[in-house]
Amino acid sequence: MLLIPARNASSWTGPTGNNTYLLTGRVPALVDAGVGNPDHIEEIASALNGAPLATVLITHGHSDHVSGLPALMERWPALTVVRTLDAGPIAAGDRELEPIATPGHSRDHLSFLDEASGDLFCGDLLRANGTIVIPASRGGSLRQYLDSLRRIRHLNPRRLLPGHGPIVDDPPRVIDRYLHHREERERQVIESLRAGATTPAEIVAGVYGRLPPVLVGAAGESVLAHLIKLEEEGRARRVDDRWETVET
Ligand SMILES: [Zn+2]
Repeated sequence: MLLIPARNASSWTGPTGNNTYLLTGRVPALVDAGVGNPDHIEEIASALNGAPLATVLITHGHSDHVSGLPALMERWPALTVVRTLDAGPIAAGDRELEPIATPGHSRDHLSFLDEASGDLFCGDLLRANGTIVIPASRGGSLRQYLDSLRRIRHLNPRRLLPGHGPIVDDPPRVIDRYLHHREERERQVIESLRAGATTPAEIVAGVYGRLPPVLVGAAGESVLAHLIKLEEEGRARRVDDRWETVET
């Protein structure tokens, strides 16, 4: 398995851009498509040493993971694209990958488990450093996301191979850190509502303090994701776009 960076560096995607993973062997396969950077495609081709790329598996439809598909299909016209659960186990390299539904960061999010090695290709489910944005107004769901984290923890993978940042060698510790972080954030959101905040923007100001402007939007989405989860659980409600707790 080779980690081949997609070369779309940014403050969001990381210093070398998204991770894509190449599995060489009988059925050469790539996990995530990148963005079609020519250097990325050349690096894949040279690692394949003349063999055609057969399959690309997509973790989810955000542009940094899929927008490279047309360029890949132009280079390898017989390429098969897998982006739903329907396919069942997928031949990849000299092994099989099992697709697992892990929605939350997006509705369509999949992870791919290599049972033989215990590797889990986890897309944007988590990353070793920093946090994952739950874009509540664009298909994100915190409730689904937490279920997905628990599902993955239960599978007990040996390593996590995320779409951004380094490979994770101690999955339980990182997954627990994520679960704990969200519990803590939820507690802060509830406290903030009880203290009189009524909008995501007011809660962001109270919970996060001063944020660089570039992060304010993501923080607002994250707070909204928490509010919607609390609403789904009957613990908060919105009245004319103002939020309040439901005390029982
Ligand atoms: Zn994403």
